[in-house]
Amino acid sequence: MINEILKKGEFEKNDIIELLSLTDKDDLEKLYSAAYEEKLKHSGKFVYFRGIVEFSNICSKNCFYCGIRKSNKGTERYFLKMDEILDAANFAYEQGYGSVVLQSGEREDEVFTDFVEEAVKEIKKIGGGALGITLSVGEQSEEIYKKWFDAGAHRYLLRVETTNRKLYKKLHPPDHSFERRVECLKIMKKLGYQVGTGVMIGLPGQTLEDLANDVLFFKETGVHMIGMGPYIPHHDTPLSDSIPDFENAKELQLELGLKMIAVVRLVLKNANIASTTALQALSGTGRELGLKAGANIIMPNLTDTKYRESYQLYDNKPCLNENAGMCRGCLEMRIRSIGEEIGYNQWGDSLKFKAERESLSNN
Ligand code: SAH
Ligand code: SF4
Repeated sequence: MINEILKKGEFEKNDIIELLSLTDKDDLEKLYSAAYEEKLKHSGKFVYFRGIVEFSNICSKNCFYCGIRKSNKGTERYFLKMDEILDAANFAYEQGYGSVVLQSGEREDEVFTDFVEEAVKEIKKIGGGALGITLSVGEQSEEIYKKWFDAGAHRYLLRVETTNRKLYKKLHPPDHSFERRVECLKIMKKLGYQVGTGVMIGLPGQTLEDLANDVLFFKETGVHMIGMGPYIPHHDTPLSDSIPDFENAKELQLELGLKMIAVVRLVLKNANIASTTALQALSGTGRELGLKAGANIIMPNLTDTKYRESYQLYDNKPCLNENAGMCRGCLEMRIRSIGEEIGYNQWGDSLKFKAERESLSNN
């Protein structure tokens, strides 16, 4: 059965649901290795790094699942100084990471949007524009997205979290809008960003059909990058008890996360897919498993150790006591251990984005 589906090359919704329902170890191995082979075709044995700076946990929103939501009084709030961000970006440059991601809670006020613009401009000066810059700071107006693009940001990550509208409503307060998120993705695409989106996997109430719809949504919207990871409850949120006995559910949650990576690789083929930290929160080798299931991007944490404790979107986030240097050594060893190489000093742009650009200029 699995062999027949994998042979197809193009997958319909039912095929995707079949693949996501696999449980037999041999079948899972076949799925992961087919996805890994697909990844090899596009980006070879390379894994690209995006050093992530979680520069602020101040957020104006209240997503029910997130540890840094506005109403969580148990988290100490912080906002990095420009120098601290530039130190992290310089470290990324010196280490040959190629790209950085600036991530934070969502704010639309001018103090914030001006600060981000300034940060992008300053990072662009490092090594004469050597670093690729991804932003992941939520929903904004077209004007702001344009400002940041003109300042030098060229990729943006905005997850839609789930494409099941009913589920989206259950996970967010009434003024949080799925439609606005999709609209934002369209605007970014129009402006010329490489656009990334994603979902949380294994949300309470989410079905395999929902996940299959998510994958088809990624394909239809033509996004270039995917960053998705397992949902992990945070103790200080309204959804803290949403998965009873989470300790025992971890293994299945990880497996579902890996199956999604593999399926997305098989369906989107040449997109950039991140092996996210949430995988590692579920298993010490979660991120390596993600790479073996078809992901090609890793986001080493550059956030200063003293702030890491306060940027916990979910419980048990790994590496809270480590610093950026330790993360580099550890990751290098992990990646080599599975026979992959790091694409140092390269932006590692989405091949899907490049192919799209080439076909536009040929027409
Ligand atoms: N504020 C921005 C960026 C930071 S949040 C935004 O929301 O886009 C980045 C991502 O963290 C979110 O998109 C969400 O998918 C993920 N996240 C939040 N809480 C989580 C949880 N409990 N488990 C897993 N992922 C979570
Ligand atoms: Fe804020 Fe993003 Fe967390 Fe939602 S997911 S509460 S927008 S940081």
